[in-house]
Amino acid sequence: MTTWTSPAISSMRLERPRSLAHALDLLEADRGLTPMAGCTDLYVGIHFGSLKQRRFLDLQPLASLRKIQKRPDGTLVLGALVTYSQCLDSPLVARALPMLASAAKEIGGVQIRNRGTLGGNLGNASPAGDTLPVFLAADATVVLASARGVRRVPISQFFLGYRKTARRHNELITEIEVPPIAGKQWFRKVGTRAANAISKVVAAGVRGEGITFALGAVAPVAMRAYAAECALGSALPLSEAHRALRSEITPIDDLRSTAAYRARTACALLTQFWSETR
Ligand SMILES: Cc1cc2nc3c(=O)[nH]c(=O)nc-3n(C[C@H](O)[C@H](O)[C@H](O)COP(=O)(O)OP(=O)(O)OC[C@H]3O[C@@H](n4cnc5c(N)ncnc54)[C@H](O)[C@@H]3O)c2cc1C
Repeated sequence: MTTWTSPAISSMRLERPRSLAHALDLLEADRGLTPMAGCTDLYVGIHFGSLKQRRFLDLQPLASLRKIQKRPDGTLVLGALVTYSQCLDSPLVARALPMLASAAKEIGGVQIRNRGTLGGNLGNASPAGDTLPVFLAADATVVLASARGVRRVPISQFFLGYRKTARRHNELITEIEVPPIAGKQWFRKVGTRAANAISKVVAAGVRGEGITFALGAVAPVAMRAYAAECALGSALPLSEAHRALRSEITPIDDLRSTAAYRARTACALLTQFWSETR
């Protein structure tokens, strides 16, 4: 039987910044300070005693990170504190990034959708995070700010390994920039049930002049399936695209699924993407 011990909350410290600049100064000064947004991921680690951090930076006061905006050039800008419920209510998301709305609809239950944030999903960097394939397929850019300045990292370079990202200790994810997308957007999540289930496999894609197809939970990081995209774009038979896809994914057996099921499902999702975006 597994036993766990939750640490006493009194052993923890929560910093509440007055502004984004103050938050970045606090992060610069303290390497051990962990950003906390909706706390839906962090709390699981606190509860099970697996989270070692004891000092947190509460991002909730940073109202400027809650905005969804469209720039004159058509770029959709999503603040890091935007919640899934906000995505579902946003006409801008519905028009410019419907695959994000589709993902948001299937994340957690109402409580998680009200608290969980986009920045938290990217920061947690679980290979099964549902918005990760969406942002990969959309060729998004992650905006990282520190007291020293701002960096823009293409999402394809943001995930470095299992739960490892390009974010430095003194940086916050402040925004996600999504360029205008021409083409049909598509999202599908395969889990044990429709809500409150972590994905066994999750996929998103765009089919227009170019083709993008991204997957989660089939490798240590969420990934673009470049070889499969190339096969589809070259009008090769679907069986060739499946072969290409199998060569680039590295699914594993774990408590949610098996490597064999994940590989089969990834191919089935590619077929579905291709037929439904025709
Ligand atoms: C019951 C339950 C169901 C869930 N269902 C799903 C699901 O269906 N699909 C899914 O993808 N996820 C799911 N999750 C996971 C979680 O809800 C999401 O990953 C959520 O988006 C995390 O956001 P948060 O704001 O709560 O992050 P937090 O828990 O506050 O933070 C998560 C990580 O990101 C870092 N972080 C947060 N914000 C920033 C920032 N702005 N800059 C830098 N680092 C930051 C934190 O330091 C931490 O490491 C579920 C969780 C629970 C408990």
